[in-house]
Order: sequence, then C-alpha cells, then structure tokens
Amino acid sequence: MKKQVDSFREKLESVEHLSWLGLFKELSEGPHKPSPFYHKRTLRKTREEVEHVREKFLQMRQVSEEVRQYLKTPTFDNWQWEDAEIMVLLQVMYTDLDFIATFNIEPEVLQHFLFEVYRRYNNIPFHNFKHCFCVTQMMYGLIWMTDLRSKIDSIELLTMLTSAVCHDLDHTGYNNAYQINARTELALRYNDISPLENHHSAVAFEILEKTESNIFRNLAMEQYKRIREGIIKCILATDMTRHNEILNKFKSILPVFDFNNKDHKDVLMMILIKVSDISNEARPMEVAEPWLDCLLQEFYNQSDMEKLEGLPVTPFMDRDKVTKPSSQTGFIRFVLLPLFIELANLFPCLEQHIVDPVRKALDYYMEMEKALEREKLNRTQNEKATKSKESPAGPQTGPDPQPASGQASSKTVTK
Ligand code: 5GP
Ligand code: MN
Repeated sequence: MKKQVDSFREKLESVEHLSWLGLFKELSEGPHKPSPFYHKRTLRKTREEVEHVREKFLQMRQVSEEVRQYLKTPTFDNWQWEDAEIMVLLQVMYTDLDFIATFNIEPEVLQHFLFEVYRRYNNIPFHNFKHCFCVTQMMYGLIWMTDLRSKIDSIELLTMLTSAVCHDLDHTGYNNAYQINARTELALRYNDISPLENHHSAVAFEILEKTESNIFRNLAMEQYKRIREGIIKCILATDMTRHNEILNKFKSILPVFDFNNKDHKDVLMMILIKVSDISNEARPMEVAEPWLDCLLQEFYNQSDMEKLEGLPVTPFMDRDKVTKPSSQTGFIRFVLLPLFIELANLFPCLEQHIVDPVRKALDYYMEMEKALEREKLNRTQNEKATKSKESPAGPQTGPDPQPASGQASSKTVTK
C-alpha cells in the first residue's frame, strides 16, 4: 500500500503544472510551511526551447548599420525582435562599445555567456529575458546619448552593461516582500537582505565562474576584482527599497560632481542602472504600454498567491485595488520623474530623450484616470436610475448598466 501511495505521489509531483501544489509534500513533511521555490518549477525554460533558440542564435547573421544606430536610441522597439535576435543585438552592443577588442573577449565565449544568461531568465510575465534586454538597451542608449565613453573608463562601461544584462537573473516573479513573508529559501539564505538582488548577482557569477562563459577570463586579476565589485554594487542598487538612499546620495554630490572621483562614479553607475531598470515609461507608448500589462500580470499573480497562502497582500499588486493609471500616476510622479530629472541635471541632453517622454506618459495616464472615474460615475448613476425604476412588486427589466470597460475607454486616450 505504501509503495502504491509513493508511486502515485511521485507521478503527480512529476507533472509540472500540478507539482507546485506541493500537496503530497505536506502529508509527509508535517505542519505546513511555505515551500520554497515550489512556484519556480513551472517557469524554467525547457531544454527543447533553449536548444531551439540557441541553434537560431548561432545561425544568425550580423545586423545592418541602420539597426546598429537604432539600437543606440531610447525609441528602440523590443517587441519586434525574438529571443535569438535579441542575443545578437546584445552581442552588437559588446562589439560596438569595443569591449571585444579592449578586453580580448573571444566571440564564442561571449555567445556562450549570452546564451547562459538567456537560459537563466525565466518565462514569467515581466522579469524575463526581454526585460533584461530593455534594461541593457536603455543603458547602452544612455552611454551613447551622454557620450559617457569620453568621461569614464572602459572597465566601468563594461561593468555597467554587464550589470544590466545580469540584473534580474533567475527572477521568480515574486518580489522581496513575498520572499521574506513566505520565508523562501532565498530570504533564509540572505537573511532578508535584498534576497532577490543578492541572488541575481550570485547567479551572474555562477555563469562567469565557468571558463567557457567567462567573458572576463582574459582580464588581469586586479581588473576582475574591480569589475566583480562594481557588478555586485550595481545589481544590489536595483533593490527599490534603497531608492531614496541612493537618489539622496546622488543629489548631494551633484553640485560638485567629478568624473575623476571614484565614489562619485560609483553613485552615478548605480543611478544609471536604476534609471535603465525602471525606464519603460521613457519609451514610445506602443512599446511602454504592453510592458505595464506584463508588470500588472506579475503583480496580480503575486497578490493572488499571497491571498492563497494567507500572507500579507502587497497593496500595489492587488487586482481588486490597482488599475493601469492608478499604478502609473503615483509611480511616475514620485519615483520616475524625481530620479530622471536629477540625472538630466548632470546630462541636460537627457531632458528631451527620457524626461519629456515620461512627462507625456504622466499626462496620458492622468487622462486615463479621469476617463475611468467618469465611467465609474456613469455606472453608479445608471445603477441608481435602474433601482429607482423598480416597482415594489419586484424588479423589472431596465437598461443594462454600462459594462466595466475601463480598458476599452482608455484606448480612446492618446499620448
Ligand atoms: P525590477 O528591478 O524589479 O525590474 O524593477 C524595480 C521595481 O520597480 C519593479 O519590480 C516594480 O515594482 C517597479 N516598477 C518598474 N517599472 C514600473 C512601472 O512602470 N510602474 C510601476 N508601478 N512600477 C514599476
Ligand atoms: Mn529589473
């Protein structure tokens, strides 16, 4: 009998889309404790998927000069490119910043590195390989737009681009608050201190530990030490709970900013990765809006899970409370603009490239918010009218209330 139960349990747990339930684990492991990583089992890329993409990637030809130039702009549309092509575009960035020549990076090693990076971004709505690409591409654009190559040395540029590439490796789609509340393996391992960011950075160096994917393998020991320190610093800076701390530091050094001062450059590098990380709204609306849908999808998944597990529900992720405009207006006003404006104080040319589009996005979402409010008001009025028409004998058929089509009406608002 025990054998039969064990065999049945094994079968059930090996069905990927069911195993996350962890039902049978609970039976054998005593009192319920959130199972670390159980939700991860279904979001890893399959072997077939990664092999298929790798074949394609290795067969791809170089990109045109036109695309190379377009790649340097914040208007670049990631949605037009599939994963294998994205890997080629990342390769182009390393080439066109002269990293291949300067740091003697063998092309096969770079390809191997990029493939491992691709493999270790999970199939989740937002923190996936395409997000990695967007953040890296914005960093790349910022480097060109600000002519950073003439201001800081190439090892720092390599640190920044590689940090962007690696900054969300193996994200599971559940943020630090969830990790800590659910007492996941990551929270335990990192003592609740930026569990995700510590993990992203650790996975990056796991990839770089392998000789065949170590793009830094021809660097001198001292250079490697510097780059490792820099990448860790940059990735850890993407924890949004440190937002004010980092921004305030940047503000305090801005009046005396000196490109020859290492401490100043360290803060600038942290600001640049932060800006790139949350830069979707600086992109054209057709590029940015689908990203918001992806982000909300991931937020909703987390809050659903929190409800299911009896954990505190993260308010800005609650599908019953959050809408597209409510999510964006506050975020743009209080997080994005104050950050972007400070960076534009150091590099005035960014005003037109990234600050103006974010201001337009704020107008767009404020209009959308108003449209939703009007619609809500209409709906309430219609409901009241319907009720008052009902006779004491019982309800009669009246006009249907307006459908709750917030998304539909929002489409009428243009950026
Ligand atoms: P991450 O490092 O997780 O990619 O980015 C930092 C966090 O900033 C995201 O997890 C998310 O909470 C927040 N964030 C980034 N972009 C947006 C956005 O466009 N809207 C909102 N509401 N939050 C964002
Ligand atoms: Mn990110």
